[in-house]
Amino acid sequence: MEIKILKDILQRNEDRANQIRSFLNEKKSVLFNVMGSPGAGKTSFITSLINRIDKNIYVIEGDVASSIDAQKIASLGVKTIQINTGGACHLVSETIFDALNELKIDEGSIIFVENIGNLICPASFDIGENYRIVISSAAEGDDKPYKYPDMFEKADLVVLSKMDVADIIGFDKQNYLNGLNMIKDNINLVEVSFKTGYGLDNLIQTINKMVESKF
Ligand code: MG
Ligand code: ZN
Repeated sequence: MEIKILKDILQRNEDRANQIRSFLNEKKSVLFNVMGSPGAGKTSFITSLINRIDKNIYVIEGDVASSIDAQKIASLGVKTIQINTGGACHLVSETIFDALNELKIDEGSIIFVENIGNLICPASFDIGENYRIVISSAAEGDDKPYKYPDMFEKADLVVLSKMDVADIIGFDKQNYLNGLNMIKDNINLVEVSFKTGYGLDNLIQTINKMVESKF
């Protein structure tokens, strides 16, 4: 019985997600689902791309509470909607559908959705994204792909952040890469430090390519 209810919930979520993708297609727009642990650099990822990508950018900020990140992003002149889940640990497509209605996006836009910070359940919920991005920081350690394979397996791009501290904290990059390779072949990975700007040009190129390949 419980299994049936869960299936219904996931099916309804999936239907809405597909509806969102058709809408995005009509609008020639691309939506990125940005996931990762709290403090991995999800907001920094978004703020680093604002003004560096030649498209209209909109942001949907998911947090359990507060509007700290949304304020940060809105202060850069980007239209932002804050979603507070009030405890729920992932976003669902219904919420994104409502947020997109409210944003009234122009044609040819990019929408970044910052999901709730954790490496578990956001992986199970399609929010109508075109691409999934996992921000994974060196500071979290090199064992994360082994511990949260589902999140990494479903990622279209892994952004390995905080590389400026990798050596200091003894981050074993080879072990991290081995973990990723165990999950899937040819994982799309970009190393960055949002603090120093290391890898940023490469990241911008990668995002631009992902957007272009959609149309
Ligand atoms: Mg954030
Ligand atoms: Zn959750």
